[in-house]
Amino acid sequence: MLKSIAWIFRPYFCHSTRQLPRNFQKSMPRHSSTHCWRTHTCGELRRRHIGERVTLCGWAEFCRGKSFVILRDWQGQVQMFLTKGSAKDIPVESVIKVRGIVQSRPEKNINHALNAGDIEVHVDDIEVLNTCKSLPFSLQDFAKKGEETRMRYRYLDIRSQMMQNHLRTRSNLISSMREFLIHHHGFVEVETPTLFRPTPGGAKEFLVPSSVDNGLFYSLPQSPQQFKQLLMVGGIDRYFQVAKCYRDEGAKPDRQPEFTQLDIEMSFVSSNDVMRITESMIKKCWPKDLNDHEFPRITYQEAIEKYGTDKPDLRTKLSITNLSNLFDSKDTINCVVVPDSYHKYLSKHTADGMHSKLMHFNDECARNGIFFWENGNFEHISGDRIENYEVLSDVRIWKNSSVVWLSWGDYNQVKTTLYKAIPIVADTIESNGDSIRDEGYKFLWVYDFPLFEADGDKLSCVHHPFTAPHPDDTELIHTDPTKVRSLAYDLVLNGSEVGGGSIRIHDSSLQRHILSEHLDIETDDLEHLLYALDCGAPPHGGIALGLDRLLAMLCGTSTIRDVIAFPKSSAGRDLMCGAPCKPDRDIMDHFFKPKIR
Ligand code: ASP
Repeated sequence: MLKSIAWIFRPYFCHSTRQLPRNFQKSMPRHSSTHCWRTHTCGELRRRHIGERVTLCGWAEFCRGKSFVILRDWQGQVQMFLTKGSAKDIPVESVIKVRGIVQSRPEKNINHALNAGDIEVHVDDIEVLNTCKSLPFSLQDFAKKGEETRMRYRYLDIRSQMMQNHLRTRSNLISSMREFLIHHHGFVEVETPTLFRPTPGGAKEFLVPSSVDNGLFYSLPQSPQQFKQLLMVGGIDRYFQVAKCYRDEGAKPDRQPEFTQLDIEMSFVSSNDVMRITESMIKKCWPKDLNDHEFPRITYQEAIEKYGTDKPDLRTKLSITNLSNLFDSKDTINCVVVPDSYHKYLSKHTADGMHSKLMHFNDECARNGIFFWENGNFEHISGDRIENYEVLSDVRIWKNSSVVWLSWGDYNQVKTTLYKAIPIVADTIESNGDSIRDEGYKFLWVYDFPLFEADGDKLSCVHHPFTAPHPDDTELIHTDPTKVRSLAYDLVLNGSEVGGGSIRIHDSSLQRHILSEHLDIETDDLEHLLYALDCGAPPHGGIALGLDRLLAMLCGTSTIRDVIAFPKSSAGRDLMCGAPCKPDRDIMDHFFKPKIR
């Protein structure tokens, strides 16, 4: 008699649930048991298979007594009832192959929490393909072990349902993007070299010594930017690539030294064309319904003015209001207004808390005050008090608002401070269980970025040196370069930049002028590109989407490492295999010791 063994299905080092999410199930491949030993996956078995003889392969997740084994593969689990042999000697996580008949479970043994909780396989043939001889710890405790351990034993972490879901979501997304670009819009996938030469004026690059040309180095490309432009010169017309990019930028919490971009370039296009095709691709390929979704557009200037950042998170319903004209002061005076309905969550105590959180950022612009609109008057409750704050009472914008976070001083500093204040206000409100942020995905285009930014008396480019200036500002290039806008655009999702691109310079003399006159970049390193522009380069533009970040947001995880199979730690190390490492002495000598003859 089968006893109730529903309890066996305890969560196995899963970070959320053993069950695959519904939208994920829809996109699951139908034919994943072709050309292999099994007839079905464990997770696909259902009542409709009752009576069928099946062969399954997977991991023994749990064994109980002599007769019960929970068999697991990427798709799920199913219970085995051994009619012959014994489960007693099978260590967990051993790899087994079974043959048997799918049977229904007695009513009282059904586990409604599981997809296959109403069936089991009566096994008459079991083969242990590989005994699991060691595990660093019980896999049920895996999630508790922390990220470092997960990365050290990444192959075990990948067995978790969370990583399985993430990596399969990644594969599905990339495959639909390929389908969209190649089959619906005539793009050509072209691979470009990863052994390249240094690109001046960009991020720090990894160097690779050449053993053929002693003393010479390749560099790993920060992106295929030059190659994709050269493909346009070559008449490819519409290019894309799932490209590995490398930046030797050291430890950053949510950056990887190697990362993946969906890289796109198109000839004969405007910014609008690139933005529109990117929107259609995301709508079409996103596994969640985005049909009614808007992709609003705002200029860089508007973004800074209203949100204090070029990556606003439109889920938060708070923005910056300019009050400078109310006060007789040279300072920029801005505020964040909190709607009346949230007043109940804010008190002198919470205002002090919010204020001291902001002070942690150590901003230059520390003079901030929080004020309540109470009984027709403004009452100062925390932070510094601005002179003449009573004039605020004359303003009617607070009709339905009760709290104001005021900041004053230098324009950029005020914007930065209030940009940081917004999430502090939102978190304080939400810590009471109310919500001031919308759920879901809020995409946004930010465009008309400045072409240059000033660093002392030097200029650097805001996007990259191949970005075209805005045609209305070409005169300013000679007279007031920091005022020149560019034809660059960024795609922002929920406050993170997930893509960026631009229309490029296709005129070699303009490109040469910008490189040498404004950016102080040696054109010697770029003569191949400059020459190519002179050989009939079509007008062109493109974009690159950061696939790691896009996927992290899609999967709802806070770190891009959770959507990368073998990521580096935040210090840029591979904790599993120990990279980077010291090469053999001979290799070092070969590459780096000066040859004395
Ligand atoms: N190559 C650029 C980047 O990696 C993207 C682009 O301009 O298309 O940011």
